[in-house]
Parts: sequence; C-alpha cells; structure tokens
Amino acid sequence: MNYEPVIGLEVHAQLLTQSKLFCGCPTTFGAPPNTNICPVCTGQPGALPVLNRTAVEFAIRAGLALQCTIAPRSVFARKNYFYPDLPKGYQISQYERPLCEHGFLDCDLDGATKRITIQRIHMEEDAGKLLHDAHDRYSHVDLNRSSVPLIEIVSGPDLRSTAEATAYLKQLRNILMYLRICDGNMQEGSLRCDANISMRPVGSKAFGTRTELKNLNSFRFLEHAITYEMQRQIAVLEAGGRVEQETRLWDEAAGRSASLRSKEEAHDYRYFPDPDLCPLQVEAAWLEAIRGALPELPQQKMERYVRALGLSEYDARVLTADQQVAHFFEAAIGHHASPKALCNWITSELQGRLNAANLDIAQAKITPAHLATLVKRIEDGTITGKMAKGVFEVMYQDGADPETIIQQQGLKQVSDPAALEPVIDAILAANAANVAAYRAGKTNLLAFFIGQVMKQTKGQANPQLLQALLKKKLG
Ligand SMILES: [Zn+2]
Repeated sequence: MNYEPVIGLEVHAQLLTQSKLFCGCPTTFGAPPNTNICPVCTGQPGALPVLNRTAVEFAIRAGLALQCTIAPRSVFARKNYFYPDLPKGYQISQYERPLCEHGFLDCDLDGATKRITIQRIHMEEDAGKLLHDAHDRYSHVDLNRSSVPLIEIVSGPDLRSTAEATAYLKQLRNILMYLRICDGNMQEGSLRCDANISMRPVGSKAFGTRTELKNLNSFRFLEHAITYEMQRQIAVLEAGGRVEQETRLWDEAAGRSASLRSKEEAHDYRYFPDPDLCPLQVEAAWLEAIRGALPELPQQKMERYVRALGLSEYDARVLTADQQVAHFFEAAIGHHASPKALCNWITSELQGRLNAANLDIAQAKITPAHLATLVKRIEDGTITGKMAKGVFEVMYQDGADPETIIQQQGLKQVSDPAALEPVIDAILAANAANVAAYRAGKTNLLAFFIGQVMKQTKGQANPQLLQALLKKKLG
C-alpha cells in the first residue's frame, strides 16, 4: 500500500526582549547558571507576575505577519504539571483564548505556492533547564531560562512531505527574523520545533494515529526525524500493528527516535485561567500602531527589488529568502549601486562557497563594502572579469581589501591605447605570414593575435580595446 504523511509543526520561538515575560530579569544567553533570576521567575510563594508589554507587541507582530486575527481579549492560563525545572508546578501559557488565531503562510515549494494554515499563536513562558553533567550523582537546575518569553506557532496538519515541512520552517524562521522578534538561532534553542506525524493510505481522508517528535532544533534533525518516523509508522502498519499515540525523542547520533511518554491530553494538565493575571486586552489603536510599524517582510522586499532595482523575480527571491543575505546585498548596493552585478556575485560566487563550507553569510570574511569595490573595479575597467575571480578568491579566504590585492598582485588592466599599441605592433611585425593570411581572408587568426598580446601583457590587456585596436591595424 502507498502511504502519505500528515504533518503539523508546533514551533517555539524565543522573543527578542531584553527582559523576561513576567519579571525584569535579563534574557541574555550564556550567563552563569541562576544569575538571571528573581522570586517571580523561580516561582516563590507570593511573587506576582507582571506582563511584559514588548513581548505582547512582538507576538502581535508575528500574528499580523502570519495573517492571523488578533484577539482583542486573550487569557493567560496555568498549565499544571510537575517537573524539577519548573518550581511553580505550572507553566503560564494561553489555552482556550490565545492571542492570535486563523492565519496562514504561503510557502514556496519549487516554484509552486502552497498555503499552510496557522491554527494559533499563543504566548507562554519557557521552563528552566536541568544540567546532568556537572555531578555524577546529582542533577542541577538552571533557572535562567525560566519565564523567558516564547510564542508557540501551531500549523494545521497541512504538510505532506519532509520537504514541505522543511520549507515551511525555513520560511517561518525567515519571517520571524525579518520581524526582528526572534534571532532564529536554533543551536541556542531560540527556535525549536515539535512535529506531529501520522501516516494514512493515499486517497484516504481520515487521519491516522499521530506521534509527536519533541524539540527538533535544526533543519537536519527535522528532516532526519520525520523521515525516520514515516518509515517506522509504515513498518508498524504493514505488520498489521497499531501506531501508539505518544511523544518521542529524536536521537541524532543513533539515527532513531525513542518513546518518551504516552501522549498526554489537554485535560491531563488541568488548565485554568491564571488568577494572578487579568485578561490581556489589545486596544484597537495599539494594534493599528503595531501594524503601521511592521518592518518590510520578505514578499514586500522581493517586490521592491523587482520594481525599484530592476532585478528578475528569481534573483529577488533568492536574495530575500534569507534575511541576512538581503541585508548584505542592501549594504553592498549602498556602497555601489549596481544591483544585478552584486546580486550575481552574492548568489553564485559567495553563496556557492559558503554553502559548500556550511557557513552562513554573517560568517563570511568578505564585507559588503569590499564586494562593492570589486564590482566597481570591474565596471571601471581596472580589472577584467577573469582577474576579478582571482581577487575574489583571496578576498574570500582572508577578507582582504580588493584594492590592496589588485595593487599587490599588479593586476591592473591595461586600457590605455598608447600602452597597448607598441605591443601589438611588435607582435604583428614578428608574425608577418599570419598577418598576410589574415588579410587574405583567414579572419579567425584574430584569436591568435589576441592570444599573443594577452601572453605578452600577462592577461592585463583590456579585451574590448585590444580587439578594436587589432582589427583597425589588420584591416
Ligand atoms: Zn525574574
């Protein structure tokens, strides 16, 4: 039988606020354990939460960018469970009345567009973190992350392949970064993803039993985990078994997932409205102010590149698919307004090397200003396109200024007729037989003369000028 997967993603994004969701403690990553804490975020008796207004604003930005309805009144709820990294015994989240609902994200998939529904975006606080390595008989707990603001973005069960799930997560991450509400750093846990997966026979409308894969914190893990889980479920179904509804953990090193616990239902958490927090009211005027101040999003940026910079839609899409790439490109055209040439260097030479080295553009040694200078020197005839490739290589390796490289390597293109003419004359004089043959009609000998002059000038002759001078002298 042929099966198809039904996949939905729950994405947790850490909001880029300075302080936590319900207290003034800093959210800085990497601080020594339990230094960014206070009575509120450590859940001490009598401590009262106070909602962070900026966190709400960031969550609304996400809701608006993902076409959601923003609830004028939403409610914070206590999600009760016991875990050592959660001293309060409950997590403050939203449940029946989330801040944002009913949105969508149009996903680009190999040239086609697919609409993925966003069921809800709710706000919640993060939990602390258990440290198991510090001591061989005890575990330690670090509460620095406790109460750091998160949004959880829940997609509909609309994804039908690993590729679709990856494309959706990439695009979602990109939008959150454009909105400047999440740094998108998956290694540090600022963006993590749970995947709900079930399999059903192709053509069937009903969903199969789903399992949930927890805490996938890289695109590679997401891909591997979903692929593994699809095959595992097919094997269970083919053997006549039943897929158990459960939560599973992905083990990248072992290349498999393992059952963590049988899946809990919402009623297991005994959610109820948090009595310490009044309902969150979003006034219409505030909502409109946030809408009016939304930063430019990938789609708008793409359209602007086509309209104002004359790039093709394809080029514009490649440049805007990663906010950092768009940022690099815009910085470069700020130094030298040659969009198409800069786009070509960025999307082919630079990204080609970065992809091969598994780096992103923020890690490149080349600066936008240096790349702009390189393009300027090609356009003003100082160097040829061919020389530029060599200069680029050095720039990529050690981040040097192209002007310095051009000077050090004596790479100036010769574009002065007075400098080229004596060289041409000498070569024509030394090859009288070929000159006669050319004049008798063997015009493809032009390439031979060009080659000779190039050899003599170590490739530095301006090719257009050289060709024109040769034709004039031979004609
Ligand atoms: Zn605190």
